[in-house]
Amino acid sequence: MKIILLGTGVAIPQKDRVQSGLIVDAGSDKKYNPVLFDCGCGVLQRIYQSGYRHTNITNVFLSHLHLDHCGDLLALVKANWLCDTTELNLWGPVGTGQWLDDLLAAYPYMQDKVDTRITELDSGQVVEVEGLEVECVHTVHALPSLGFKVTSGGKTMLYSGDTEPVDDIVKASVGVDLLIHECSFPDTFEVTNHTTPGTLADKIEGTPIGHIVLTHLYPQTRGFEAGMVKVLAEACGCPVEIGYDLQIIDM
Ligand SMILES: [Zn+2]
Ligand SMILES: [Zn+2]
Repeated sequence: MKIILLGTGVAIPQKDRVQSGLIVDAGSDKKYNPVLFDCGCGVLQRIYQSGYRHTNITNVFLSHLHLDHCGDLLALVKANWLCDTTELNLWGPVGTGQWLDDLLAAYPYMQDKVDTRITELDSGQVVEVEGLEVECVHTVHALPSLGFKVTSGGKTMLYSGDTEPVDDIVKASVGVDLLIHECSFPDTFEVTNHTTPGTLADKIEGTPIGHIVLTHLYPQTRGFEAGMVKVLAEACGCPVEIGYDLQIIDM
């Protein structure tokens, strides 16, 4: 399984981070297509930069419907249509179907350009897509939201999406090879619906995890990176790093 972090930023622009998105690839040698998790603004350009063909990305999971996680979805649909691909299998939390209907209603010329199959998911549900087993994990955010635990070839990755540190994510993290967790702000901020290193460390301390990568970084994290990593490395005793756009993780 190969993971490419396309966007590790948030809704506020930063020079080196676009909004949320990552590719999980079970392996082109096995003829599996890449699967996209979240599609915030800037992700379409990052798909191009990653070397993947956007027309091969017809399977998309959305963790929630905040703009910084879905703002480029229609742009991807249009790019694919212009290159003769109209298929879109979209998975997301409750409301995803209505959201896409409303979005397409605002662009009537797009309505017959996409052939969608939408599946609304709930925590605990498991789906199989392109060589990946994807389990939905309960998270706590300002909107209905999901984390995704992805297993392929004996390796497991958990992507938190946007959330406060929650027990369900901690439980699902036990024994994973890789945890990609949001860490929106450093501990100098008090936040709800999001995570800081200290609040995550308190929850996750002692949980056996192979490797942690932090994502969904607000500009306010700049300069605090070393401290953020240290707090979590001490809590979990595993390698912790700050994710960056176009980072490739082979596992
Ligand atoms: Zn959000
Ligand atoms: Zn977000």
